Amino acid sequence: MPTPVSNSSPPWRAGTGFDSHAFAPGIPLRLGGVTIAHTHGLAGHSDGDVLLHAVCDAILGALALGDIGALFPPGDAQWRNADSRVFVRRAYELMREAGWSVGNLDATLILEQPRLGPCRDSIRASLADLLSTGIEAISIKAKTPEGLNWPGTAVAQVTVLLYR
Ligand SMILES: [Zn+2]
Repeated sequence: MPTPVSNSSPPWRAGTGFDSHAFAPGIPLRLGGVTIAHTHGLAGHSDGDVLLHAVCDAILGALALGDIGALFPPGDAQWRNADSRVFVRRAYELMREAGWSVGNLDATLILEQPRLGPCRDSIRASLADLLSTGIEAISIKAKTPEGLNWPGTAVAQVTVLLYR
């Protein structure tokens, strides 16, 4: 007997996330849930963690559940200075409730400073912990914004693959 053809959707879904924040002096720099020593941090209503915001949007995008702004309205006072891990944990919960797991995640951070090499594995470990994956499932690439005239901005771009 041939295996019956399933009408259900395939057992994987991909999502992408994008975010940007401006650097501002005198606030902590948070990237991927890790605090990084630097003269400037990222301004925003929450802790400005540009990478976690893009991770959140990638997961929500894979699930076609909208974006981080719909789940956590930026005008809501309760998210002021919030630890952005809260946002990723909520997106992760929604993902698990729908029966999905993270296969792998690939991120590109675009920023002039600081150099991320020394903290790359800390960021990978932080994301692996948040998403219940092994560290080998998490890729963090850092680029400088050559030719983009973005000296005061950090950009994160994330792709995630979910599987059942
Ligand atoms: Zn953001």
